[in-house]
Amino acid sequence: MSDEPEISEEHAAFLRDLEKTDPKLYRAVAPNEWLPAFWEACLHEAAHAVVMHAYGERIDRVRCKGHEGGVTPHSARSASVTPFHVVVCLLAGVLAEPDGEVLAVANWRDIIDDVLNARRIEQTDYVNSIIIARGELEDSNDADAILAIVLAARARAIDLLQTPQIWAAILGVAQCLRIEEALPGERVHEICAAHVPFGAFND
Ligand SMILES: [Zn+2]
Repeated sequence: MSDEPEISEEHAAFLRDLEKTDPKLYRAVAPNEWLPAFWEACLHEAAHAVVMHAYGERIDRVRCKGHEGGVTPHSARSASVTPFHVVVCLLAGVLAEPDGEVLAVANWRDIIDDVLNARRIEQTDYVNSIIIARGELEDSNDADAILAIVLAARARAIDLLQTPQIWAAILGVAQCLRIEEALPGERVHEICAAHVPFGAFND
């Protein structure tokens, strides 16, 4: 059973037609489960953006088009946003996906091992989290210390995503991204501010 309202056959036929005649409008109005990969990507980018907003980092642009997406921070970076906050922000993206995998500790160890041995060059959110965590350590090859940082950040990201006003902001940004595909930073902050004051979660 899904929580989505049922769609009549007539409406379904209309949407199928719209998919061919006006793909942009189709993406805006089709039910989320008809566009699972796109909706997942919108939630992912929205979560990065909302956590940045909650930590008080200005955003220039958020986009989500096809398989490409990303959040561009404002060039004037906030001094109060720590590397740990950045790791929380990175992990919030993957955790916000409906089927977002909560990476097991053994998998984290594998990726950390790959990064430490320069075997992994793919710039994923996991890899970037590990690289940032490394930068925080006196001994940047201490795998246990890196693991401790990323797991603490993951726990913080899960806490944030379970905070109702944060999740409401993520849904708001993701819905707009679905329609617009790219949002200017001011628009993102405006949507977020309806739920979460700018910088309110900077602890
Ligand atoms: Zn991401």
